[in-house]
This record gives sequence, structure tokens and C-alpha cells, in this order.
Amino acid sequence: MSIDNRSATMSCEFFPPRTAAGVEKLLATRQTLDAVIQPTYFSVTFGAGGSTRDSTLELVKLLSEQKVNVAPHISCMCSSKQQLETLLNEYKTIGVSRLVTLRGDVPIAVDDTDETPNKTVTELSHANDLVSFIRDTTGDHFTIEVAAYPEYHPESASPQSDFEHFKNKVAAGADGAITQYFYNVDAYYRFMDNCEQANISIPITPGIMPITNFANLTRFSDTCGAEIPRWIRKQLEVYADDKESLQAFGLDVVSNLCNQLLEQGAPGLHFYTLNQAQSTNAIWKNLSI
Ligand code: FAD
Repeated sequence: MSIDNRSATMSCEFFPPRTAAGVEKLLATRQTLDAVIQPTYFSVTFGAGGSTRDSTLELVKLLSEQKVNVAPHISCMCSSKQQLETLLNEYKTIGVSRLVTLRGDVPIAVDDTDETPNKTVTELSHANDLVSFIRDTTGDHFTIEVAAYPEYHPESASPQSDFEHFKNKVAAGADGAITQYFYNVDAYYRFMDNCEQANISIPITPGIMPITNFANLTRFSDTCGAEIPRWIRKQLEVYADDKESLQAFGLDVVSNLCNQLLEQGAPGLHFYTLNQAQSTNAIWKNLSI
């Protein structure tokens, strides 16, 4: 079956590199992705606790100068309202019109004497508060994407309360959502059913994590609460020292996942590229679109 993707929103996520050489490499990666996927936008993450505040802004400026449609991630963790307002104004000035809006993660202190900048100035507790703040200060200027968790956020008290909190973000003015990555397609369908029952009709775009490295994937997944199904984990364990077979298997699994999602009406795909073009482009070339 071939899928018509004319109305699909495809996006690719980057994190800000630490070095000038890393930035140069990323700009080339961006072009390689653009040549194949032509994403609707590229997003740039915001480090836990504002740790990449400056490098996120710098990369967003650089991409905007190159006429790239870029959506910065913004988080309220360890930021004052004043800092957030300043940042929003900067983004407006350089022509940004879409934000990925998050609470963010709590920064991990290096030791007892660690004075992580802005550690104490969190003024907005949850992402719905940030969405309301953005709407109050900038009206409808920004298209606001929020996070969704088909397998539930790791801190949530219950599936029901997690969904109630998601509803609060939509009620506060979110225009769309991007999910945490998942490999259990039923979790996404269940989440969509819950949205339908709650009369939520904003697009919920699946977040797609390519499988390229077993150790990194298990580490991320343990932290963010994304389950690696047993049949995938077992096979990845076998291929742990065989990069080529692991990547071929991962490509097959994730391409099938994406095709199923698009066939079932997912509004697009958001690729967690990890600043690499190869695996995302390879998945793209396997899609029935
Ligand atoms: P929230 O929606 O605020 O939810 C956080 C937790 O609090 C949930 O368990 C929720 O159920 C609970 N909660 C919400 N409201 C309430 C309430 N009123 N009372 C009690 N509990 C409540 N992190 C970064 O640091 N930088 C990034 O750039 C980044 N990009 C991301 C992009 C995507 C697409 C996704 C899915 C995640 C991203 N993250 C990023 C991770 C994200 O910041 C973490 O998952 C974070 O722990 C939660 O953020 P949130 O916006 O989902 O928070």
C-alpha cells in the first residue's frame, strides 16, 4: 500500500553541538536530511535545566539565517518568567513561529557544591503552565507543540493522571503534540483512542528513534520510560557486537513501525536524528510514500 504524504508533517530533531566543528558538521547533516526528506521543520533541543540556553539560541539563529524553518525547544525548568519572556522575544525577532514546549528535566548536580546556574529560579512547574505563559505573553504568534507519552511519563502517578495532565496542555493552547519514542504501536493507538474520547483533535505526531546502538538505546529508554519490547531487546542483545546486523535489524523494525503508523493515519513523523542523517534517511527510503 502506498501512502499519500502530501499533508503529513515531517520533522527532524537536533541537539546543539558543543564545538564549532560540531556545528559545521550539523549544518552539513541538515542539508543531507533536507535533500531526502524535506522536513516541514527542524527542531533544536534545550538542555536540562537551561544548560544549553545559549547554544540552542545560537544554533536557532544560524539555521534561521539560512532560511531553515526551525522550531526551538523551550523549557520552564530552571528559568524565571523574565528569562522566558526575553527568550520568546528573541525568537519572535528572528522569525521563529513554532516552539516545542516542555517542562524539561531536572538537572543532575555534579556534587554537593555544584552551583548549576538558575537552579533555584523555576517559576512555572509544569508544561501546561508554560503553554499558558506563552499564550498570555505572545498570543497566537507561535504554533505550540507539546510532549505526549503513549507509554506514560516515568514520573506520572497513574496512566489516568498522566492523560489528565496532557489534556491540561491542550486546554492551555497547544496546537500539536510529539510523542516520546515507542516501539509498541498499540500504545500509540490507545493514546489516540483516549484523545478521541476526550474530543482532542490536535495532531499527535509519533516520535521516531532509529535503532543504531544497543547500549545507548537501553540507557535512554530506561531513563525516559520507553519500553523496548522483549523480542527486539533479545535480538539486539545478540547483535550487540555486530554493528552491521544490529543496524540492519533496527532499520527493518523502525521502517515497519513508521509504515504502520502512516497507514493507520498518523499525521506525520518526528525523527530523533541524534544529529546523524544516515539512519533517518535510510528509514525514509523504506517508507511506502
Ligand atoms: P509535563 O507535561 O509538565 O509533565 C511532567 C510530569 O508531571 C508528568 O509525569 C505529568 O503527568 C506530571 N504533571 C503534569 N502536570 C502536573 C500537575 N499539575 N500536577 C502534578 N503532576 C503533573 N527535555 C529537555 O530537557 N529538553 C528538550 O529539548 C526536550 N525535548 C523533548 C522533546 C519531546 C518530543 C519529548 C517527548 C520530550 C522532550 N524532553 C526534553 C523531555 C521532557 O522534558 C521530559 O520528559 C520531562 O520530564 C517532562 O516534560 P513535559 O513537558 O512532558 O512535562
